[in-house]
Amino acid sequence: MDGVWQKATDRVRDELGPVAYETWIGPLNFLGLHDGLATVEAPNRFFRDWVQNHYLDLIRKSLAPEAGERIEIKLIVGKEGNRNGHSNGHTNGHTNGLKATGPVRLAPPSSSGASESQRRTLHPQFNPHYTFDEFVVGSSNQFARAAALAVANQPGEKYNPLFIYGCVGLGKTHLATAIGHHLYASGLRPRKVLLMPAEIFMNELISSLRRDRMGDFKEKFRRVDALVLDDIQFLAGRERTQEEFFRTFNALHSGRRQIVLTSDKMPREIAGLEERLRNRFESGLIAAIAAPDLETRVAIVQKKAALEHFSLPPDVALYIAQHVSSNVRELEGCLTRLAASASMSRSPITVEFTRQALDDLIRTHDQKPNIEGIQKIVSDFFHIHLSDLKSKNRTQHIAFCRQVAMYLCRKITESSFPTIGEHFGRDHSTVIHAFKLIHRRIRSDSAFRFSIEKIERELKTADANAA
Ligand code: ADP
Ligand code: MG
Repeated sequence: MDGVWQKATDRVRDELGPVAYETWIGPLNFLGLHDGLATVEAPNRFFRDWVQNHYLDLIRKSLAPEAGERIEIKLIVGKEGNRNGHSNGHTNGHTNGLKATGPVRLAPPSSSGASESQRRTLHPQFNPHYTFDEFVVGSSNQFARAAALAVANQPGEKYNPLFIYGCVGLGKTHLATAIGHHLYASGLRPRKVLLMPAEIFMNELISSLRRDRMGDFKEKFRRVDALVLDDIQFLAGRERTQEEFFRTFNALHSGRRQIVLTSDKMPREIAGLEERLRNRFESGLIAAIAAPDLETRVAIVQKKAALEHFSLPPDVALYIAQHVSSNVRELEGCLTRLAASASMSRSPITVEFTRQALDDLIRTHDQKPNIEGIQKIVSDFFHIHLSDLKSKNRTQHIAFCRQVAMYLCRKITESSFPTIGEHFGRDHSTVIHAFKLIHRRIRSDSAFRFSIEKIERELKTADANAA
């Protein structure tokens, strides 16, 4: 019986990634499976409710291959947790105003945290959290959000296609889904709004080809009023899929149906994308999402906490936002970890408590690369020699790479201009000039900003501290 649970949780781990998995699924205790009912024990009520709200569907789906499609799950609270409250041990037995352990407060669970009337306007198959209401606006994403809202209000008329691009974890899927919810709420039937990862589009295509069911495939995709294809970069190099997508695209576009695409690359950066598709993608509106600035990150942390009815002191929100700077998904990961730790320990959530609870999650972010590290990564990124970067070579391309490197050294290490100058064999005024130049260009050119953010991301992930 444990084998069933093992297989299911392996699938859950693949889906969630290791941190969320260790935080929320690892501590669950599988008690058994009888008559299509799996009983699973959570360490306390807070934990149970969180898993119930966030992961129950996923667990159910993951159990289904072995335990059957109709499997139900009963989440109960272990004895330890029961001492702090009087759980009745039923999944549905929640009371309002729970006294959760420790300082954590939790709302009565609902699938989305949304009110009943709100929920009725949500597309039944889409993630209920990915709405415009739950999307925090800041300078990094306001353009993309405005474009998404315009498309949601006037589908097929204003910007078609809408192409949203940005690095991973910055809210592309969230925004694209919000458009889908909005269209559904304004009256489209569920089947008329289709949202799927490009990978699934390809899988469906392949299986239709194999089963000689292309008629059904075309019918399915061409009868929709709006098609949202997520992570379109996945189509790179897949010729047959691109060809079919091209046809679908044209059919929808000429019928003035809305198309929304997301990608972690701009159309012209997607290698192995047919020219004619690239032209189509570029014919609409391209909206970038950049990494959120500090204020936006604080607002996101606060909003997510509020949505979970998890009370977070302002200095703790600031601490998290300061230490996780590039990716909203990681911000969320920190918050859920903190919630779990707080629920287990019953101590108040202070900055010190947070620091300890998130130690392994944010330690990597604290390790800033040094100047040598940045020089190395930047020269690798632009495929030039490190020695050229530090030389007096004045060819345009090399000078440009050097300016980028100087800019990043200043921004990331916060070293003085003269110190940076020394590392490049230049004086401080050259570094100041480079910094200003790049800074100005980042502000005026979103594609350029996007490339710089990419390098920054590499700097964060690479072991950039050259010895
Ligand atoms: P992407 O598709 O760009 O990789 P997602 O849309 O999946 O990113 O976003 C990752 C997580 O971050 C999601 O849970 C999403 O709700 C959240 N998120 C991203 N941007 C925002 C935002 N501006 N406001 C609120 N949540 C956000
Ligand atoms: Mg996504």
